[in-house]
Amino acid sequence: MIIQKTSSPRLPNFDPNNFSFGNTFTDHMVICEYENGKWGEVKVVPYGPLSFTPAMMTLNYGQACFEGMKAYKDKDDNVFLFRVDKNFSRINKSAQRLAMPQLTEEIFVEGLKAFVDVDRGWVPHGEGMSLYLRPLIFATEEALKARISEKYMFAIVASPAKSYYSEPVAVKISDYYSRAASGGVGFSKAAGNYGASFYPTQLAKEEGYDQIIWTDDATHTKFEESGTMNVFVRINDTIYTPATSDKILDGVTRDSFIQLAKRRGIEVVIGDILVDDVLKAHADGSLKEVWGVGTAVVTNTFKAIGYKGQRFELPLLSEEESYALTLKRDLLNIQTNLAEDPFGWRWPVERKY
Ligand SMILES: *Cc1c(COP(=O)(O)O)cnc(C)c1O
Repeated sequence: MIIQKTSSPRLPNFDPNNFSFGNTFTDHMVICEYENGKWGEVKVVPYGPLSFTPAMMTLNYGQACFEGMKAYKDKDDNVFLFRVDKNFSRINKSAQRLAMPQLTEEIFVEGLKAFVDVDRGWVPHGEGMSLYLRPLIFATEEALKARISEKYMFAIVASPAKSYYSEPVAVKISDYYSRAASGGVGFSKAAGNYGASFYPTQLAKEEGYDQIIWTDDATHTKFEESGTMNVFVRINDTIYTPATSDKILDGVTRDSFIQLAKRRGIEVVIGDILVDDVLKAHADGSLKEVWGVGTAVVTNTFKAIGYKGQRFELPLLSEEESYALTLKRDLLNIQTNLAEDPFGWRWPVERKY
């Protein structure tokens, strides 16, 4: 591990009460380069641009995948990561599917911890605040050859993130476009999955929806995911979520919600969610909630669902009545060290550098 700290930190000018998420970056970044069949040393270096030409293979053939994670700070300034093992194994699954090399624990886990330690001053304090972390792997060989790249870069950049609060959204159930196909790359965090989802989402926005509930590509009769989040449906007091598969991303938030729900004694059914059953439940009043989960906002509650030109309004539950918001609170309390962590999900970031 090489740690090269910046001589001109921007941290003293960072105002945690006034910044823009997603385009404010911390003082450092992680980089590690792969060539001649092996990864080099992992480095924490000053944040800044890299230099590539348009012949870089990622830009032409799309070998790129990423992760999304967060670091949290408690009231005593301790910094924690969350379930890092899950993101580590997932980035390697994504990389494998895209024929990219596997990362070692030394590179991913130790690189991440050293980076967050060095930039710990950027982890904002307070309710709902965190430091968003974006590990990624991309092909860097300069060659217009449609084959597996021989050079890659692993990098991590970080951006402070504000409140988790997100307005309830209206979502359109897709009856035409698909996010993923059998045998495809839906389970991986391939960058191209996002690129391919923007156009259908833009069309849904023109119809007055914020997001899409993706359905199975073969019949469009089963829920798969919601936007770039896993989806949950509550009918009466039972919650349903689709099983993970090659089309459904194995979300860390999804898995955490399932465990937190079971701990509260809520019945969780993992399996097919039929569009028809959801609409029937809406008609007879047993459909209580539909929501998406993911690291970025933890929970997105839905106020309406659209299907084939019809729009169905959903009840707006209070924080006490809502399973989505109760489980979100349970999760945030563990992430920010306000509650016991019986699952061993928190990863303290020691002061070392
Ligand atoms: C990242 C992602 C999720 C959420 O995963 P988390 O680990 O909970 O952040 C869900 N679906 C898709 C398609 C994703 O890319």
